[in-house]
Amino acid sequence: MPSALQVQTLRRVTIDEALDAVAKHPVRQVPSERLRISASLSGRVTASEILAPEDVPPFDRSSVDGFAVLERDLRAAPPGQPVRLHIAGEVRMGEAPPGPLASGNAIRVPTGGALPPGADAVVKIENCRESNGAVEISGARGAHDHVTRRGADVKRGDHLCRCGDILTPASLGMLAGAGIAEVPVFVRPRVALIVTGDELAPPGSQMRAGQIRDINWLSLDAALSAIGMAPQFVYVRDDKASLAQQLRESLEHGDAVVISGGSSVGERDYTPAVVAEAGSPGVIVHGVRARPGRPTMLGIVDERPVIGLPGNPVSALVMFELLGRPILQRLFGRSDKVIPVRAKLGAPLERDPDLERYVAVRLKMGDSGVEAEPLPGSSAQMHILGFADALVRVPQGSGSLAKGAPVDAVPLSKNNAL
Ligand code: AMP
Ligand code: MG
Repeated sequence: MPSALQVQTLRRVTIDEALDAVAKHPVRQVPSERLRISASLSGRVTASEILAPEDVPPFDRSSVDGFAVLERDLRAAPPGQPVRLHIAGEVRMGEAPPGPLASGNAIRVPTGGALPPGADAVVKIENCRESNGAVEISGARGAHDHVTRRGADVKRGDHLCRCGDILTPASLGMLAGAGIAEVPVFVRPRVALIVTGDELAPPGSQMRAGQIRDINWLSLDAALSAIGMAPQFVYVRDDKASLAQQLRESLEHGDAVVISGGSSVGERDYTPAVVAEAGSPGVIVHGVRARPGRPTMLGIVDERPVIGLPGNPVSALVMFELLGRPILQRLFGRSDKVIPVRAKLGAPLERDPDLERYVAVRLKMGDSGVEAEPLPGSSAQMHILGFADALVRVPQGSGSLAKGAPVDAVPLSKNNAL
């Protein structure tokens, strides 16, 4: 366990070094549950691989409106001459097709209708002329292209999902199409959101002198929900014993803890000391070489992540995006990095000699691709982040990144974007 002196000193590491340091310690995965596919599963994470129980489509079907035929009947006609076939019936959607189809006959079939037994081709309606119970077919080369074979989309036994996949509208559609009725998903991790600060006023309260509105209770709650967590908000005054007591309770009843405020080295910054005393390994990182976000603390207690975010609302959200999100995803056994958007910088950005900077940008389509337009203002202004789409990393160093320089913009979480 680190000594009190150790936790009072910021030892700064980069964002990547911080993630690597935390990755060395195990995290307890949350258990899984089986839920009906109808239970709003978008954004949930699969807890095992899923195999297709059925072929999709379940039968050979027509991909056009037209007539099901025998291909050899088409080939039998002299080149350039139409083929005349007797209309022997009709395929109705959702019903077994009539048949078998005999030579010299055709059966009317709608798009998606089952191919009648015996038929091996479908001719598009555009190539057919009907009269007196017969159909005349011309220019029907490549007629077989209009049949979608059973299992052409998904074959029984195909892998549909791996463990740890995020369910999206499209993947849920795929599962529904393959006849999946229940999906194994990880339970939503219970993440305690402990917000500290004697100066904070809850929403709707009469503000007293010296008070400010509490921002993080809502922005961090939303950020947690957006990555599939079940946040449990609790407010604690700036009091070491109260914070220690709340942390113990949250660790006992939850899967992870996020603490807002008090993560620095000030007199009333109790987060690092309280986490260090809560259990093993305790504090792993205290201080990152990043602006905003320097006084961030990362720890693990009994395989449960504890993330101590600076109270500054912009720092808190930026650090949540860059550190909190990847660490908490480990509760699902995931460890993926957000894929950045390559963009051209819309205005020059100063480098910092000691810290990497993360600058809020708006993304827009320019003449030569995506442009990242830095939002003017300081990192203490919450509205800057409220208007932003992404964060651009400005590496530590001297001079500045020029306007037009290629940069990686890390998109900020939107709802249900893990
Ligand atoms: P701290 O990290 O607790 O030292 O807080 C740093 C700054 O952020 C101070 O100016 C706090 O008043 C402010 N702050 C802390 N928590 C919040 C919060 N939940 N909402 C808005 N501002 C906050
Ligand atoms: Mg505070």
